[in-house]
Order: sequence, then structure tokens, then C-alpha cells
Amino acid sequence: MQQRDYLTRLLGFQGFNVLKVEIDQEGDIEKAIITLGRSNEYICSNCGRKLHSAHSSFTQEVRHLHLWRYITILKFEKVKVRCPDCGVKVENLDFLEKNKRITKELTHQVSELCKVMTIEDVATF
Ligand SMILES: [Zn+2]
Repeated sequence: MQQRDYLTRLLGFQGFNVLKVEIDQEGDIEKAIITLGRSNEYICSNCGRKLHSAHSSFTQEVRHLHLWRYITILKFEKVKVRCPDCGVKVENLDFLEKNKRITKELTHQVSELCKVMTIEDVATF
């Protein structure tokens, strides 16, 4: 099994696979930018219908859980679908809430940390 396959398995997002990992540094902030490939199965965000073709796509970057000391950015193509019932809609993704730029997993982690740490401490985490 290749390292990318291990990372895909650890990520655990159905239909997505790790294509590339790059390390970037801005001042003291170190980032792991993970580029994802994906299957051609999309979910209409309005009705939940599964579709297999994209109307259009755009590159989306979202923050995910830290990878060791690195802030993690997931980079992938987010799709608009032409649903027969709803028209053109942005797809629904299990790991992302609508109009959010951080994953549900990171939202959950921050919410749990806020139970035991101050907001200032969580913000620097
Ligand atoms: Zn629909």
C-alpha cells in the first residue's frame, strides 16, 4: 500500500482520495495542503438525489483537523449538479456543512475543546 493510500484511509471521506501532500510555511504557520481526487458521484444539496455528472466545478479549500503540528488544508473540486428535480445546485458533502470553510470534524473538535479550555486557548490551538 502506498503512503497516499494510507492517508486516504486515515482521512476516511467516502469517494475522496489523497493525490498530493505539500508543506507550505507562512511565517510561523506550517500548513499541510492535501489535494484530493474524487469519484464522480454527487449528491444534490436540495433533495439528496445521487447524480453522476457535474454541471460545473470550482476549487474549494477547507480546514481540517491538524496533522501533527501542521494546519491542514484540504483542496478539492466542489461540484454543482443539474438535478432533474431541483435544477442547478451545489452538491452536498458529508464532511462539510453548507457554506462552511472548515470540516465537521474540526467544528466538533473545537466545540469539545471549548468545554475544557478558554476560547483564547482554543483559538491558539
Ligand atoms: Zn435535487
